[in-house]
Amino acid sequence: MKPGGKKLKIVLFTGYACNNNCAFCIDADKRDLPQKSTPQLLREAARAAAAGADILEIIGGEATIRPDFARVVGAAKRLGIPEVICATNGRIFSDKEAARRILASGIDSLVFSVHGPDPRVHDALTRAPGSFAQLRRGLRNLRELGFKSVNGNTTVVKRNMASLPRIAEFYIAHGVPNVEYIFVDPNYGGAKNDFDALVPRISRAAPYMRRALAAGRRAGFDQWKARYVPLCHFKDCLKQISETNERGLFLTEHWAPDFTNKDAIGSRAAVGRRKTARCRGCALYGDCEGIWTEYLARYGDAELKPVRRRPA
Ligand code: SF4
Repeated sequence: MKPGGKKLKIVLFTGYACNNNCAFCIDADKRDLPQKSTPQLLREAARAAAAGADILEIIGGEATIRPDFARVVGAAKRLGIPEVICATNGRIFSDKEAARRILASGIDSLVFSVHGPDPRVHDALTRAPGSFAQLRRGLRNLRELGFKSVNGNTTVVKRNMASLPRIAEFYIAHGVPNVEYIFVDPNYGGAKNDFDALVPRISRAAPYMRRALAAGRRAGFDQWKARYVPLCHFKDCLKQISETNERGLFLTEHWAPDFTNKDAIGSRAAVGRRKTARCRGCALYGDCEGIWTEYLARYGDAELKPVRRRPA
């Protein structure tokens, strides 16, 4: 049993190569780092199983573009890892044979990244023409193949925040039960390099994010969540905050080509995000991770509003 009865989640990065080129990508400056080899990934899957991983999340870049992707998933399943999942841009699944091959590997669930409700918004952010059409065809193929465990995530930036209610409609129409609306991370990569074009004020983005969560609740999806947000902007949906949820449920390790982090949740809270002097006395202080350090450096902390009493 792991400490606190939590599940051990190991995030296995295959490398940073990707067939999209998302403007905000945290890995934008890492594309040229070497990909892990197949033997290395198979060894790491075995190490994860030996460590008692309950969940193995395989990610890139875009892990599904590797010819060995299904092989690595299949190995992890045969090693007995209960849940093997993958965050993906979904494009590979537009090829029904590829989709069939990946499903045959035993993958348990997929997380599709949807950054717009249509090609105009999505493809402008992925900078990959046709990526939205492929993602949508991928969802259709998976449905036709009887695969139901598809979740979603959306990175929230200036260029798509006003589209979040329509993105929520897209998820509802596809019956996606778990969705994360992720406030963009400007500490590294594309959003740091192009901060002014991409990073919205939290006070502008939060109302759209809350509207998307509310649309999900109305449709019966109460597991949709917001990630990387200061809680004072989400007082009416504190049960739908990813970090609060994951702190209670998971121990998370990141195994990347260029770093290993044995406590990804703790170090994000300690280093990547900050609360400020304005937060003193806030009733949500203990639960809240504040906001990204780079955000504070650029926009300051005037939007942080201490909460007097914890909402019921
Ligand atoms: S005032 Fe600070 S501690 Fe309170 S919710 Fe906002 S960011 Fe978090």
